[in-house]
Amino acid sequence: MIVVMKIGSPEAEIARISSELETWGLTPEKIVGKHKVVIGLVGDTADLDPLQMEEISPWIEQVLRVEQPFKRASREFRHGEASEVAIPTPNGTVWIGEHHPVAVIAGPCSVENEEMIVETARRVKAAGAHFLRGGAYKPRTSPYAFQGHGESALGLLAAAREATGLGIITEVMDAVDIEKIAEVADVLQVGARNMHNFSLLKKIGCQDKPVLLKRGMSATIEEWVMAAEYILAAGNPNVILCERGIRTFDREYARNTLDLSAIPVLRSLTHLPIAIDPSHGTGRAEYVPAMSMAALAAGADALMIEVHPNPAKALSDGPQSLTPDRFDRLMTELSPIGTTIGRWHRSAAVMV
Ligand code: PEP
Ligand code: MN
Repeated sequence: MIVVMKIGSPEAEIARISSELETWGLTPEKIVGKHKVVIGLVGDTADLDPLQMEEISPWIEQVLRVEQPFKRASREFRHGEASEVAIPTPNGTVWIGEHHPVAVIAGPCSVENEEMIVETARRVKAAGAHFLRGGAYKPRTSPYAFQGHGESALGLLAAAREATGLGIITEVMDAVDIEKIAEVADVLQVGARNMHNFSLLKKIGCQDKPVLLKRGMSATIEEWVMAAEYILAAGNPNVILCERGIRTFDREYARNTLDLSAIPVLRSLTHLPIAIDPSHGTGRAEYVPAMSMAALAAGADALMIEVHPNPAKALSDGPQSLTPDRFDRLMTELSPIGTTIGRWHRSAAVMV
């Protein structure tokens, strides 16, 4: 349920209403929008009558029910306004959200050694990326495959951050690693395979680094947004949803089916920013540029693209990784589309 306050409502009145609603056993959450303040209510509201609630104060404009199973994540909970995630990086704060330039996240699947991660960071930065991605802890189908260098790779990500000022995005697979990963990372990634790991979602919701939440490979949109709800409910409002392809019947020509229709669907259902990962979405480097352009045109707020200095030798996901040269060219190809929709700034331009 949400309580929409009239424009100019006094702070003291908002506080009074919130305390009164708390005595009813509800959890009020004040959401300050561009024009209005909304009080989001979580709790057992089934028996409450919105019209009666409007009587609590003359400053209440309207009381509305949130119909979806997700509450904090729903677009209605913020009375239709988009949320934005502010990510402080050494190069300045990067904002991700519907009213901001598209953020570009690029880098290898896995952090392999210092030279390759620093070189990749320099190259993607020069091409205009805002963040470096790279896995230290890798979820692999086979226990015999390269599992990532773990803690030592975190030090290498820190070196790349230091060398370029790029923000770092890396995956958390196990809640016990959250703290040490958060020392280096500016955004914590929850991978597709962990989207349903509710205890990890709860724990990642209890810390304050922004979270990139990938869609499970067989997750419905509702399950995915409910996973985001876990993080929001635990207290972390900074969640970015990332579509990375889902499993469909044809796996011969593309690794996954990149669900770009998720962009407008999510836009209507949730206020959260939306990222697209065309690399895992297709599994083939040659399809990544077309899907990146389509994602940008369809309204994605961020793109996550795998880039490796030598894809043929990559320890994971080489076939879907762009070379730094191809990534640089892709950024040039994206520029006219991004400029036309008014959402294009290469990294140097976003510094605050
Ligand atoms: C990754 O980003 O390298 C990764 C493992 O992604 P996903 O969880 O989407 O498979
Ligand atoms: Mn990968």
